[in-house]
Amino acid sequence: KALVKSVATQEGELTILNGINMDVKQGQSIAILGPSGSGKSTLLGLLAALDSPSSGEIILDGVALHSLNEEKKAALRKQKVSFIFQSFMLVDTLNALENVMLPAELAGINNAKEKAQSMLERVGLSHRLTHFPNQLSGGEQQRVAIARAFICEPKVLFADEPTGNLDAANSQKVADMLFELNRESDTTLVLVTHDLALAKRCERQLLMNSGELSEDSEMETQKRAHKPVSLHSVGVS
Ligand code: ATP
Ligand code: MG
Repeated sequence: KALVKSVATQEGELTILNGINMDVKQGQSIAILGPSGSGKSTLLGLLAALDSPSSGEIILDGVALHSLNEEKKAALRKQKVSFIFQSFMLVDTLNALENVMLPAELAGINNAKEKAQSMLERVGLSHRLTHFPNQLSGGEQQRVAIARAFICEPKVLFADEPTGNLDAANSQKVADMLFELNRESDTTLVLVTHDLALAKRCERQLLMNSGELSEDSEMETQKRAHKPVSLHSVGVS
């Protein structure tokens, strides 16, 4: 059954997602494009098990999300999913290094601090380790959020406008990191972006329009060797 999300508002019921079907294979990279307010962030939140649909089913790495209670959903998120939010969602009371360490510590990974340091180095922030979010620029906060999303090597990375606040040089750096993770660890990438250069590097482009999703066949895709795929990483049916 197709995915529907509606919410109650003062003006009555508002349908945000209006019957979405999609299937993402393990290791695939897909870009979701579309106008502001079309429902992209809402869809990402559902796929990442941060929110529940009004109807329809989501299968994440073979697990039906609707069959899980909140506790199990949280465990699944911790194990398999990373999310880069449009608004970063850094913890205000933790500095950059502590923000990046946090998921690794929660997952009980050894040498979380060293890992976090090296992730921050990769995003060009070695000189900002002890800065708190309110002492960082928008682009720097975004890079901290990216370092944090990478630290646990997720199976699926959902990113909402990962390059939205970055200049060309840093966008390129972040995109390179995303695709490196995709290649080396077979991480599935589901990206919402207005950045056409980033979207073109993905294997598939989907277009969201007023809560409906379609394949964007007009966009010229970068030709790549076809990867063997087996597992369903995210599916909606
Ligand atoms: P943008 O590109 O601006 O980030 P988007 O495609 O990510 O846009 P969403 O954030 O998914 O858009 O929102 C889609 C629509 O649903 C918007 O019109 C928004 O106002 C509405 N919406 C989202 N969440 C709620 C909610 N909890 N209650 C009421 N309306 C909502
Ligand atoms: Mg959005």
